[in-house]
Amino acid sequence: MQKGTLLVVSGPSGAGKGTLCNELLARRENAKFSVSATTRAPRPGEIDGVHYYFVTNERFDEMIEQGEFLEYACVFGMNRYGTPRKAVEERLAQGIDVILDIDVQGALNVKKAMPEAVMLFLLPPSFEVLRKRLVGRGTETDEQIQKRLATAKSEIALASEYDYVIINDQLETALRQVEDVLDAESCRPSRWTQWLKQFREDAEQ
Ligand code: ADP
Ligand code: 5GP
Repeated sequence: MQKGTLLVVSGPSGAGKGTLCNELLARRENAKFSVSATTRAPRPGEIDGVHYYFVTNERFDEMIEQGEFLEYACVFGMNRYGTPRKAVEERLAQGIDVILDIDVQGALNVKKAMPEAVMLFLLPPSFEVLRKRLVGRGTETDEQIQKRLATAKSEIALASEYDYVIINDQLETALRQVEDVLDAESCRPSRWTQWLKQFREDAEQ
């Protein structure tokens, strides 16, 4: 069986990562979201185990010590977020595509640990649109929004480290581009090594 694709999605807060990942998951049966652990408090409507595993600082430390994270980072200088390793590895081995919505520090660490990961950077059409989306989402205080906008500048500087940059202006267009990326990535020879090996063996008989 071919391994699943590990799709890492990063980009400034408010670019539309959550929106895009949710739509993608609704459209691709063979894709699953990697639920991160975080020390931040749940927002209204967020469900433990669905959007995040909401954990205490002590539990987060324990998870680090026990090597449970594929990567983890402190984001916006405030809360910690980490990707549980086991679920990612198991799903990839089962041929399921796994989607990570993680920050740039974590994403670059995933690339080091798993060079086959497909790295996608999502951008808003402009800084002004980013500001409007963050304000419109209404989930952060003014102070938190300022922090996220300030962080956006340093995050965008790392876009060139990624494999693909996609502008989320019209959601439908961005989604089609992400699906095109996933389809193209599934055609790489490195993903067909088992199949090619089997074919050669059959041909030799
Ligand atoms: P992120 O996960 O990157 O922080 P969200 O997915 O929460 O961003 O999106 C931020 C806000 O922008 C949300 O209110 C969302 O509904 C809105 N949004 C996302 N994509 C688009 C789009 N293409 N056009 C207009 N609004 C969008
Ligand atoms: P939010 O608090 O808006 O849900 O997420 C804030 C930021 O944390 C986003 O940029 C998101 O991509 C990032 N994030 C979420 N989960 C993880 C994770 O497991 N690891 C890392 N490094 N970043 C994460």
